[in-house]
Amino acid sequence: MDIALLSKTYKDAGIVGAGGAGFPSYAKLNDKAETLLLNCAECEPLLRLHRQLMTLCAKEILEAFDLTRETLGAKEGIICLKSHYTDAIKAVESELGNYPKLKICKLDAVYPAGDEVVMIYEATGKVVRPGGLPIECGVIVYNVETMYNAYRALKEKPLTDKLVTVAGEVKSPITVRVPIGAKLKDVVDMAGGVTTDDYVYWVGGPMMGVVKGAGDVVTKTTNSVFVLPPEHYLLNRLNSELKIEIARAAASCCQCQLCTDLCPRHNLGHPIEPHKIMRAAACNNFSDVKAFMNTFYCCSCGVCELYSCPQGLSPRKLINLVKGGLRSEGIKPDPTVKAGEVEKNRPYRKVPITRLIARLGVSGYEAEAPLDNKVRAVDEVKIMCSQHIGAPAVPCVKQGDKVTRGDVVALAKEGALSVNIHASICGLVTEVNEKFITIKAMR
Ligand code: SF4
Ligand code: SF4
Repeated sequence: MDIALLSKTYKDAGIVGAGGAGFPSYAKLNDKAETLLLNCAECEPLLRLHRQLMTLCAKEILEAFDLTRETLGAKEGIICLKSHYTDAIKAVESELGNYPKLKICKLDAVYPAGDEVVMIYEATGKVVRPGGLPIECGVIVYNVETMYNAYRALKEKPLTDKLVTVAGEVKSPITVRVPIGAKLKDVVDMAGGVTTDDYVYWVGGPMMGVVKGAGDVVTKTTNSVFVLPPEHYLLNRLNSELKIEIARAAASCCQCQLCTDLCPRHNLGHPIEPHKIMRAAACNNFSDVKAFMNTFYCCSCGVCELYSCPQGLSPRKLINLVKGGLRSEGIKPDPTVKAGEVEKNRPYRKVPITRLIARLGVSGYEAEAPLDNKVRAVDEVKIMCSQHIGAPAVPCVKQGDKVTRGDVVALAKEGALSVNIHASICGLVTEVNEKFITIKAMR
């Protein structure tokens, strides 16, 4: 297969990064790649879906991964898993004999092991330039579920469903495969329903997740839904007011620098220094322009505010404020900035996932959440036209149309970074606009 055909296959099938922000997979294909990484690190605490999928479908995943590697002419493929994912590692090892160019890299059980920049360093020893792309150092990273979806695309099956771990205040934590566009409430019901009267839906992992409503829906990047009581620590931190956080920085930041010392990007030589932003906020002194420009190199992992700070302050929140302000003024990161030396104490500054889970107050939510890989039925889906980085897809169906699962309902926007979107159930199109398409099931 050549790169153009592989690119068309991934674009037409709607394949996007399933583990993160939804970058269209076809746009990553690049013949300058020397190494492909398969991310099965399951970066966030409590998630289960990636290791479970690898355990069940290593054959399919490795086939697509190696075909992608071979098509690009990359010399090696490295499968990155945490060392305690013993079942997933066994499943990979049982297939590796068929793929001489693939090997395993076992990662420590630390956060954020799945961050691209961190993973590339662990697997290859290379440091991606601050603000740069992995391909600049000859690396492309694909998520494990993305490669499973790529396998199906190569068998002419477009992307119509998503694996989601459901845990927290639910009766039976589970990992389910649901049609894209399924309502969060329907997905949570698949875990036996909630066990508390008052709750919120926390979508994504504990470190980087957001709160959504029951009517919000699963997209191509929804990895997990946690049902949390409204008084949970994570919600208190998420909802704390910015002006109060600035006042707290002024009152309590002792400039211990722990937030910087434990910052995973800082320890790889990236010039992000959260304590300097806190200092500026505390002193109302904004003369250190470099510190502000360096906020571009924060990946919002949350280590500084949810783990490092002994005072419970919120450097990430302030950094996000600065970053947003710079972007809204059209200011971009300096492309000439290079990474410094990797911090020599970095091995001792990693954040153990077990301690992080305890710190976040989510130990009680650790559960096996067994995988059910059969697509669950739902009565209705609301399929968003923007589920990926780039331009939203453009609807190509109208109200009253009958569609079959897998039919294209929105086309990749021409001339832009975009992918097709497909019907995730068989049914009747009941509403179409530029933002979403709803389909009612016809069984
Ligand atoms: S860790 Fe907390 S107290 Fe220490 S410098 Fe950072 S924000 Fe300030
Ligand atoms: S969120 Fe904090 S710890 Fe994470 S990269 Fe940004 S500054 Fe560093």
